[in-house]
Amino acid sequence: MLSNESRNVIENIVIKYRNNLKEKQDPEKVFKVAMGSEAKAEILKDMQASKTLITEIVNDVNSWPEAKVLSEFEKRGLKEEKEKRKKTLVFPKLENVVDGKVVTAYPPEPSKYPHIGHAYACLINYLYAKQNNGKFIIRFEDTNPDLAKKDYYKAQLDGYEWLGIKADQVIYASDYMDLIYSKLEKLIELRKAYVCTCDAETTRKNRELKQECDCRSHSVEQNIKMWQDMKSGKVNKGEASVRLAIDMRSPQGEMRDPVVMRINQNPHARTGTKYKAWPAYILQNTIIDCETGVTHRFRSKEFEPFKPVQKLIAKWLGYSFPQIFEFARVNLVGGQASGRKLREQVESGGLGWDNPALTTLASLRRRGFLPESIREFVDKMGISKTESTIEWSVLESMNRKLLAQRDVPKISAFESPVKIKISDPNGLMKEKISEGYIDESLESGKEFRIKHLGNIVREKNILNVTGTDPKPGLTIVSFSKATEDVKLLMPDFDEPEKKIFIDKDEFSKLKDEDIVTLQGIGFCRLENKKDKVFVFGHK
Ligand SMILES: [Zn+2]
Repeated sequence: MLSNESRNVIENIVIKYRNNLKEKQDPEKVFKVAMGSEAKAEILKDMQASKTLITEIVNDVNSWPEAKVLSEFEKRGLKEEKEKRKKTLVFPKLENVVDGKVVTAYPPEPSKYPHIGHAYACLINYLYAKQNNGKFIIRFEDTNPDLAKKDYYKAQLDGYEWLGIKADQVIYASDYMDLIYSKLEKLIELRKAYVCTCDAETTRKNRELKQECDCRSHSVEQNIKMWQDMKSGKVNKGEASVRLAIDMRSPQGEMRDPVVMRINQNPHARTGTKYKAWPAYILQNTIIDCETGVTHRFRSKEFEPFKPVQKLIAKWLGYSFPQIFEFARVNLVGGQASGRKLREQVESGGLGWDNPALTTLASLRRRGFLPESIREFVDKMGISKTESTIEWSVLESMNRKLLAQRDVPKISAFESPVKIKISDPNGLMKEKISEGYIDESLESGKEFRIKHLGNIVREKNILNVTGTDPKPGLTIVSFSKATEDVKLLMPDFDEPEKKIFIDKDEFSKLKDEDIVTLQGIGFCRLENKKDKVFVFGHK
């Protein structure tokens, strides 16, 4: 059986085609289109049942009058989807947009190298500011001393700079700690926050049972006194926290008195041991957004449940809350994009953050992806409230197209070169070459073309020249008079490097950071000429 979501995907396909082509649809065709959609995995579970269901859906939509097709087409946002494809990155309509007055911010946590997901969120906020002649802020959300690491601040900035993002301002949440403390004290005075000394287990149970704890009845003076002790380091981690007094009976878990300040006495990358209590996301994010005049922000849908709490904090502190749009995940098929997974791989495998097998911006850069390809990829991903899927290979094809415009050199390359004699009894070749190298795998008895040499047929360890004029359909294969053995780093955890051989003469003309096509291998970037190291990009 197909889930409601998959049924919806299929219905949308039929409605789209019926509306755009103005004709009834064929179940067979819809089935094929559905197999290229996010419903594929479910269809594969039971092909026969899915086919029957798809036929039912197609017949149903086919029976609708055109007016209903059109109204469903519009109601389901399929029209916007069509326009979005045409104009690439289209932003949703937000309120309070004043040209020149828009301020957006992107708040990375300096806990990892930026990957494609960061690039997406950062670019969206940046482009929105620029489209509206506004200001763009990069703000490090570094209020967890256990995660913020010196190296990562720089790695994040390097990544965004490489993408061509120019922030008007770079700020640090850890510079706002005194302000955050004073706002928290204001919340305590307003009786909107209290110090809770319950242990984690008790708090968890109380949340589950929707029960208030006794700490909620502390007087303002008691709360201030306990908060001072938290601040000065007299209280240890886990012994006390500050919670908002919202509503323990709320059906929404986020509203049941969330923690906004925790003790963490570990030294911080920027402030050392100056601060001993650190704010939770909802508190610091709200205060700094409001204080720095952020008017609009795009963030991932996972933050949506916090919005009501953040709005309350802003209201209590007398701030106007920015317009925030939460976008849905864009799932990358065929690549790894999760920051958490990346960190696991880096921490467990002793890998560098720029290992070619990862999808950090640093590793994509090493592999010869151009920043423009990533920007185009983000355009293609679009912004939506509904989850979507994009193939990793789309990024590769964008990069391939951009590299083609640059006319990167094609260089002969071999996995296992063999020496070969050249036989040209009729003297067809312009340049007389008597021997050289081909790849051992080159098929015998079949005609190929070698640049600068001509058309050839291999016969064991001899190449017979058959002509010099190009013939349509002949595959160009590698040949070199002399080869150079080089190291090729692969985006592959199992086979991280290969030894290959490339044309010696061509290699001598290259310089560091050149991107080339290695024949039969793909696009590669020369990382270090001295050590003869290339990094594989893609086919
Ligand atoms: Zn308590």
